[in-house]
Amino acid sequence: MGNVAVFTLGGTIAMTAAPGGGGVVPALGAADLIAAVPGLADSGISLDVTDFRRLPGAGLGFADLVALTHAAGDKDVDGVVVTQGTDTIEETAFALDLLWTNEMPLVVTGAMRNPTMAGADGPANLLAAARVAASPAARGLGCLVVLGDEIHAARWVRKTHTISPAAFRSPDTGPVGLVAEGRARILNRPFRHDVGRLDPTVRNPRTAVLPVVLGDDGETLRRAGDGLDGLVVAAFGVGHVPAATVDTLTEIAARIPTVLASRIGAGPVLTHTYGYPGAEADLLSRGLIPAGALDPYKARVLLHLLLASGRDRASIIDAFATTA
Ligand code: ASP
Repeated sequence: MGNVAVFTLGGTIAMTAAPGGGGVVPALGAADLIAAVPGLADSGISLDVTDFRRLPGAGLGFADLVALTHAAGDKDVDGVVVTQGTDTIEETAFALDLLWTNEMPLVVTGAMRNPTMAGADGPANLLAAARVAASPAARGLGCLVVLGDEIHAARWVRKTHTISPAAFRSPDTGPVGLVAEGRARILNRPFRHDVGRLDPTVRNPRTAVLPVVLGDDGETLRRAGDGLDGLVVAAFGVGHVPAATVDTLTEIAARIPTVLASRIGAGPVLTHTYGYPGAEADLLSRGLIPAGALDPYKARVLLHLLLASGRDRASIIDAFATTA
């Protein structure tokens, strides 16, 4: 039961064979997606559908997400479902979570198998997402990601496999709930960042994630860092870089907010365990900002939105200090 607004943005869930061959492309609109879901018409959920974008996940940007939060926030419904390409869900959902100030849940879903394939997962994911969006249990939880009948917090979820229908995982926490027998069950209340209201229209910053790699001498960082307003370094392990990159990172961190995250994909960066040049304690003493348990891509989303909102360095440090 309930009223749900559905915004379709494209992605595999909306892809079908292009005329003349050459692979699938985002071609299906909101009405096509809804019509393909067995059980949705009988679910008692009434839908208000909007064809918002028809793009692959990689084609989406922050401007689309800001426009989406405005359009979705204006709807007088119990919850919102967003369908999009899975390639960027781990970033878009976190951005939406940071931007979303409504009590009604915003639920992102997609599909790993396109509608032309046996066992296409889009219809089941869309039905489960609609059930979560309509559920009173999901109110106040911000942006959730629903695939494979699992409910994940935007803050923790990652795409962990290129093709598996079970690609979405929250390595640090597990899912916050599941959909069973048509009902959304929340098992854990997700942690949400409180970074205050964001207005990412103030600036158009250039931000990047740059990994350190074996034998790195810092030259790639130095060249790339020159053109940036903010940088996330994807470091080894708990936040370590080769000693040869330390001077370059010190210079970059003196000029722009430079966040230290881990390449690993689960677990936090540490702050005061290792003491050698290039270890986390050394880098933090040189002005880098610890990402906590945010992975590099989510750390970059947060950094980008803070810079785009005109936040100063102190406010950026505070925002990262609230990360788990
Ligand atoms: N390439 C697709 C996209 O992100 C993948 C997907 O939707 O699963 O648009």
